[in-house]
Amino acid sequence: MALDQSILRNIGIMAHIDAGKTTTTERILYYTGKIHRIGEVHEGTATTDWMVQEQERGITITAAAVSCKWRNHQINIIDTPGHVDFTVEVERSLRILDGAVAVFDAVSGVEPQSETVWRQADKYNVSRIAFINKLDRIGANFTASVESIRTRLAANPVAFQMPIGAEENFVGMVDLVRMKALLWAANDTSRGEKFDVVEIPDEIKEEAARAREILVSSLADVDDGIAEKYLEGIDPGVAEVMAAARRATISFKIVPVFCGSAFKNKGVQALLDAVIDYLPSPLDLPPVEGLSADDKETKLVRQRDAAEPFSGIAFKIMTDPFVGQLIFARVYSGKISVGEVVLNTRTGKRERITKILRMQANEREELPWVEAGDICALAGLKQIATGDTICDQKHGIRFESVVFPQPVISIAIEPRTTADMDKLMKSLERLENEDPSFRVTYNSETGQTLISGMGELHLDIIVDRLKREFKVEANVGKPQVSYRETISGKSEVEETFSREGGGIAQFAKVRLAVRHSEDADAQDGLIFKNLASPLQIPPQFVEGVRKGLLEGMQAGALAGFGVIGVTVELLGGAFDQQISTENSFKVAASLALRQALRLAAPQLLEPVMWIEVLVPDEYLSNIITDLNSRRAQINSVSLRGHLQVVEATGPLELMFGYATQLRSISQGRATYTMRFDSYQAVGAATLARITGHA
Ligand code: GDP
Ligand code: MG
Repeated sequence: MALDQSILRNIGIMAHIDAGKTTTTERILYYTGKIHRIGEVHEGTATTDWMVQEQERGITITAAAVSCKWRNHQINIIDTPGHVDFTVEVERSLRILDGAVAVFDAVSGVEPQSETVWRQADKYNVSRIAFINKLDRIGANFTASVESIRTRLAANPVAFQMPIGAEENFVGMVDLVRMKALLWAANDTSRGEKFDVVEIPDEIKEEAARAREILVSSLADVDDGIAEKYLEGIDPGVAEVMAAARRATISFKIVPVFCGSAFKNKGVQALLDAVIDYLPSPLDLPPVEGLSADDKETKLVRQRDAAEPFSGIAFKIMTDPFVGQLIFARVYSGKISVGEVVLNTRTGKRERITKILRMQANEREELPWVEAGDICALAGLKQIATGDTICDQKHGIRFESVVFPQPVISIAIEPRTTADMDKLMKSLERLENEDPSFRVTYNSETGQTLISGMGELHLDIIVDRLKREFKVEANVGKPQVSYRETISGKSEVEETFSREGGGIAQFAKVRLAVRHSEDADAQDGLIFKNLASPLQIPPQFVEGVRKGLLEGMQAGALAGFGVIGVTVELLGGAFDQQISTENSFKVAASLALRQALRLAAPQLLEPVMWIEVLVPDEYLSNIITDLNSRRAQINSVSLRGHLQVVEATGPLELMFGYATQLRSISQGRATYTMRFDSYQAVGAATLARITGHA
């Protein structure tokens, strides 16, 4: 019998660092019965923080997929990291999720990183509910937190609960749908498992009635059925409110808001109920669309049905001590069993699945098969990368892959002892395979190996993992900026590649036009348009041109940095029936592009970072002086709670070591968020230094 997908919830838990994702996840696993004691983040025993680094640093780095059961539903949870250097992890999780719980700290409300993640969730159409956590903390403010969702995230938050008591007197909440109070005893010894569902206490009855009125009127704004009753003054009742709320959440019209204190074990069960009641199952979502694996153009649709041909996306690759490489996959359609072969449409390779596993936080269940809607881990696939589509051999489909940001920072790396060279290279290769925002390059001129990533912390952690997991000690150099190149002008060139005798005869001629294009950055830096007549360049050679262009984009005309922001039009060319091949066109296109870039006013770009610093008043002027000395541009200074918020942008190069400096000027009292903002043209001095001539 096919799996009933209506019982599935594929969700992520997303938030700013320290809002309490890990703590909340830990409670979820405890109440759903998968673990028998609660691990705490600060003790380094939380179940999903399985890497040593996470336990030591108390932060979540790697998204781990965990399954659990609640009210006869299966919830697959991806714990997503909060640090800005790992947003790529968040992005690839969101790509394959159906819904998410956004966790906020009730003291600070919406924080910068939650804004980033929120926008990512918008992009991937992920329905959300919100959990205002840490209501036990001094300064916790439920109403202000809900308002910050409205103002800072431009969302439509609707309170489904109302907290009872505040700070150390926070004892529970009113369920505004059923109009009941959920109360935990002060001397609770059940880790929050036991709580009372009772009549709303008299002293807050009026306040609760007003809150309920707001809930119903908010639903009336987005739902006709509720609106009708609301206007007639009839209470719609529990079932109708829930049904309307579910529709409105799934169609992104509202964000239901819940509250609690994960750490003090309050409110997590109701949050689990809300996941089931309001977040979508795969059946609530439209069919999935992809492109045919054969011609890469024809649109194909797969119903989310086990009877369709198998299709899925590999969203995470992990090295597992027991089975080697494990691939986390989201299955969209069909069914696949152990021993069957799947097609990877990126590589065109067929590989056999040797194991299918359901990952729980601390154990794994072997499954004979997995089908539409589910998330699982697969073993046996070797040549696979994050974002690859895997599918039925005879029904090739390719889903759009996540576009990963280009790394902005690099450091040189070498093994401490030369004997470790081989081990270092193998380990780096494995890490590169796991993490699409991490790259390894070898510079044959200098003989240096460079590792590149999204920030200092990102590379720090990689070096740390090398030591601990792969047992390779490495020396690293100073961080360097990853420059890029683009063009500010345009040009048109014609290039012929022809070779006779000697090796194999080849011939290809292409005519290209290049120009600057902002939109290209969303597509890995290059937009390619084929305007050539098939009589001049037959379709089978166009793929060669595309490959040649991608190769040509690797090294710009100024200083050999990767090129971005270019639109290339293939205008025409010529071929030879006898000797032209895809490869001839690849070479011709690559040569032509190099020439065209040189003629189109090449420009050197540097990464500019967006930075937000939260700082107590007394350190504000020192922070600003320091930012100015880093040539940062201060965009705004404002007050949030009792802290000053400085928002600025500045060149990455001048931001190196900022964490250390900030700590010393603010005596550890300031915090900051930094993320890549954009590539900007460098000044004359940098240009002269990098290209070696003024
Ligand atoms: P994450 O970075 O979002 O995964 O946050 P964590 O779960 O690691 O929590 C960050 C810190 O906040 C840890 O020290 C937690 O113990 C603490 N914390 C989490 N939830 C609560 C809460 O409800 N109340 C209080 N007072 N502290 C909490
Ligand atoms: Mg965490």
